[in-house]
Amino acid sequence: MMLIVAPHIMPNNYWLRIYTMSGLWVMLALGLNVVAGFAGLLDLAYVAFFGIGGYTFALLSSSQLNVHLPFILVLPIAAVFTMLIGITLGSTSMRLKGDYLAIVTLAFAQIFKLLLLNLDTPVNITGGVNGIFGFDPINFFGFRIISSVAYAYLIWFFAVGVTLGSFRIKRSRFGRGWEAIREDELAAEAIGVNTTWMKLMAFAGGAFIAGAAGALFASFQDSVFPNNFDFPQLVIVYCMVILGGLGNIPGVILGAVLLSILPEFLREYGAYRMMSYGLILIVLMALRPQGIMGEVGFLIRKKIRPDKDQTGRLRTSTELYYDENAKPLGISESKSQYAKSSLAVLELNHVTMDFGGIKAVDDLSLVLHEREILSVIGPNGAGKTTLFNLISGIYPPNVGSIYFEGREITGLKPHQVVKAGISRTFQNLRLFNKMSVLDNAKVGQFCRTSAGPLSILFHLPLHTKEENETDRKAKEVLGLFGARLTGYRFDQQAGFLSYANRRRMEIARALSTDAKILLLDEPSAGMNPQETIEITEFIKSLRDLFGYTILLIEHKLNVVRTISDRVIALDYGIKIAEGSYEEVANSEKVIEAYLGRKRQRVFS
Ligand code: ATP
Repeated sequence: MMLIVAPHIMPNNYWLRIYTMSGLWVMLALGLNVVAGFAGLLDLAYVAFFGIGGYTFALLSSSQLNVHLPFILVLPIAAVFTMLIGITLGSTSMRLKGDYLAIVTLAFAQIFKLLLLNLDTPVNITGGVNGIFGFDPINFFGFRIISSVAYAYLIWFFAVGVTLGSFRIKRSRFGRGWEAIREDELAAEAIGVNTTWMKLMAFAGGAFIAGAAGALFASFQDSVFPNNFDFPQLVIVYCMVILGGLGNIPGVILGAVLLSILPEFLREYGAYRMMSYGLILIVLMALRPQGIMGEVGFLIRKKIRPDKDQTGRLRTSTELYYDENAKPLGISESKSQYAKSSLAVLELNHVTMDFGGIKAVDDLSLVLHEREILSVIGPNGAGKTTLFNLISGIYPPNVGSIYFEGREITGLKPHQVVKAGISRTFQNLRLFNKMSVLDNAKVGQFCRTSAGPLSILFHLPLHTKEENETDRKAKEVLGLFGARLTGYRFDQQAGFLSYANRRRMEIARALSTDAKILLLDEPSAGMNPQETIEITEFIKSLRDLFGYTILLIEHKLNVVRTISDRVIALDYGIKIAEGSYEEVANSEKVIEAYLGRKRQRVFS
């Protein structure tokens, strides 16, 4: 309603122009929010993408090259062309992170500006410093957009479209994937997010919006000049996103509107106007680094706490934390179905990992059978975690091969290993701390879903179906842990969970990938004796009730003794014993490895 009335209540054309420009800034800021806010990429080429959109429009709708395409064609061409450039730049620099990505994208922006300035000779393409002006008026099926009011409607129409799209994307597998990458890229990859692809998608999405905004801007201004797409504009749009709070859509909109209006009051002070952006940023970083809209109390709905009983008291923590009747991941067969089998599901053949002279894993071969728990023990630095990193694809082995269900997985990327059916937890907890408990579990479903941007933006059936399924599975998996990870805790940030619950959350996240093999890296580390008994029982139930195959690293030997079907011991990356717990515990080599001397009984 406001948007319909606003153009008519502006006091004069000057304010109407500011109003229209604020719509354009909203669009631009939301586009940057996809790249920098959602995915956390420091993209300094963003303003160049804005310019590419502007100049594409200028060249295709003017007498400059004598091409006069209709606006309805030029707008998508500008957006898609800019996106393709974004993808090209992104694909060459996606391996780069932080500072390096910033340097490469900044260089791109500078090259672009130099091209704009110099491509006026020998053939005049960009018009050099004089730019290009005098464009064909926008004509929508005979309806011409010429007046300032019409432009205000047109630009805000797109700004609203980008806003709605942003909300939809944020609440989708894309949004969760990006947030996971922003929080912990390695953990995101290890839980099944194709991080390179997702970063490229963020780049592409940002470039698409910037390109469209550039085309609209060019048409609105009826001219384009190199200094329309320069460093100051980049600073302004970054200021807007940071002021609003990276990733916070309402915040970014507010930031864009405020920063397109406030500095107008400083117009008469010339250069000081630019300084105001810098000042706002410094003050904000000092006082409110999460942005103006971050964590506004009254916006957070109060949740009922289902972990409380009817009298309002918290339910005790000793109650059974998993439901024996729960049927996670669509597995509904009865307990007896999961007899152990002799089928080898995972095989390592002579695998070696050499870290510049240190053989962390040395010529290791092992077989993991279906529905067995194989524990890996060994002193600190024996190579246990490296073994997990090799299986999960974090390191490709120097020598040797790894097979899962008869298919070679050596050298696959971590997200491909998860997709194949092997998922892991980390020894030193790598949850996505700022994401909710439910979203942490939902990220696990990323590799099982495939909805693309169009499906998400238009809520096509594929997206809706997958979202419902993701939600159901995530809740089912969390439900295995009872009140500890369900109810009001669904919405709690993972970082606020107790230590033991964060350990449980790691397991839940690994389970939510629909894996067949779980690699659990010290799941009971740091837990008290009661919690250790519970988690041991739980891991046992994953094998006995739900048929999982589990490779376990564990230092607590009573846990190993209780649940292992077989045990292998590593020392200096070499397998020194393999067999039942008793066999391994009584092996001289193992006793020696643990104590460094012979004939001492260390295991009970
Ligand atoms: P802990 O029980 O302490 O976790 P671990 O058995 O898991 O030990 P690893 O972390 O696999 O042992 O380490 C095995 C050896 O490989 C150690 O000597 C370690 O320093 C070395 N190592 C592991 N990762 C790397 C790496 N990325 N670069 C260099 N050396 C490494």
